[in-house]
Amino acid sequence: MTSIELDSVNKIYDSEGGEICAVNDMDLEIQEGEFLVFVGPSGCGKTTTLRMIAGLEDVTTGTIEFGDEDVTDLRARDRDIAMVFQDYALYPHMSVRDNIGFGLRLSTDIPESEIASMVEETAEMLGIEDLLPKKPSDLSGGQQQRVALGRAIIREPSVFLLDEPLSNLDAKLRDSMRKEIMELQQQLGITSVYVTHDQTEAMAMSDRVAVLNDGELQQCGPPEDVYRNPTNQFVAGFLGSPSMNFLEATVSSDGDTVTFNGDADFVYHSEASSIAEALGDRNRCTVGIRPEDLVVGAESGFNVTVTVVEAMGDENVVYAQVGDAEIRARVDSQHRLSAGDDILLGFDDDNVYLFDAETGDSLR
Ligand code: ATP
Repeated sequence: MTSIELDSVNKIYDSEGGEICAVNDMDLEIQEGEFLVFVGPSGCGKTTTLRMIAGLEDVTTGTIEFGDEDVTDLRARDRDIAMVFQDYALYPHMSVRDNIGFGLRLSTDIPESEIASMVEETAEMLGIEDLLPKKPSDLSGGQQQRVALGRAIIREPSVFLLDEPLSNLDAKLRDSMRKEIMELQQQLGITSVYVTHDQTEAMAMSDRVAVLNDGELQQCGPPEDVYRNPTNQFVAGFLGSPSMNFLEATVSSDGDTVTFNGDADFVYHSEASSIAEALGDRNRCTVGIRPEDLVVGAESGFNVTVTVVEAMGDENVVYAQVGDAEIRARVDSQHRLSAGDDILLGFDDDNVYLFDAETGDSLR
C-alpha cells in the first residue's frame, strides 16, 4: 500500500467544441490504507481524476506521486494498481477461475500451481468458490462484480481504484456489496479510491469524502465533518437526503426580523436571532436548513401548508409550501401529517447554515 499525492493536477480535453477543463488545479493527499471517495454530479471530473491516478489518462499539467515516486508519466501497468469498473469488464469466453487468475498469468512468472491456489483463496474470501468453473454469462450482476473484485485483489496491488462498481446492481444487493467492499478494504488495508455520484454511498463508505463540482475539488474530509461544516452551498446541498433547504434571507435594519425569499408573509421573528448576528454588516444571505433540523410544533417558525407526505417508516419526508418556496422536512411519523395540513415548522438558529448570497461561500 502507498500514499497518493496529486499536486496542481489539470486535465484539459480537446474536443470539437473547444477545450474542456475536466479537472482544474487539483491538490489532494490520500493517506496509506485510506478509503477515499470522490463524489459529485455527472461530468464533474470524478472518472477523469481516477483514470489519471490509474495512468489510463494523461495529466495535462501537474504531478501524481505514489509514496515518494513520481508516477505522472508511468504507464498503468507499471503503477501497481488494480481497477474495478461499473461494467465488470470480465472476459466472457473465460471461466471465473481464468478471469480471476488472468492478470497474474499475464504479468508475473508465478508457477501455475501457486496461481491456482491463490485463485482458490481469493474466491473463498469473496464466497464465490462454487462459481469458479462457470462463465460470466451464467452469473448474476452481483456475482460478476465479486469476480471483478477477486481479479483486482488477487494481485495485492498497492492501490485499489473503483469506478462506480455498484451502479448496475439493484438497491438491496448494492447495500450488501457496499459492506463487503468496506470489509475487504479494511481486511487488506489497501489504499483505495472509489468514485460514485451517490452521496449516500460516499458518506457510508468513505474514511474521507472528496466532493467535486465542475472539475474543482470543493472540500475533502471525514463525511460527518463535511456534512456538518460544508465549505459552501454546493457541498451543503449535495450531501444529505432530502437535500438542504435554501432560502434567500433579508434581515431588517433593526435585526429583529428575517424575511425569506422577499415574501412579506414569510417572516421569521427573533429578537436575539443568531442569524442577524452572524451576518454582521450584511443584510442578506442564503440560509440553509437541513430537513432533519426542522421541527413540527415549535413555538415559532414558518406557517406552512403540507403538500406531500412520503412515508419512510419511522420518519416521513414532508413537503410543504410557503409562498413560492417548497420546504422539505424530515418528521417523526407519529405526527401523522397529511396533505392540506397547516403546520408550524420551527428551527434552532444554531442549526442554520449561512452562505454568501453571491458566492455561496459558507459564512460561519
Ligand atoms: P459521470 O459521473 O457522468 O461519469 P464524471 O464526474 O466521472 O461524470 P468525467 O467523465 O470525468 O466526469 O468528465 C469530466 C468532463 O470531461 C465532462 O465535461 C466530460 O464531458 C469531459 N470528458 C470526459 N472524457 C472526455 C474525453 N475523452 N474527451 C473530451 N471530453 C471528455
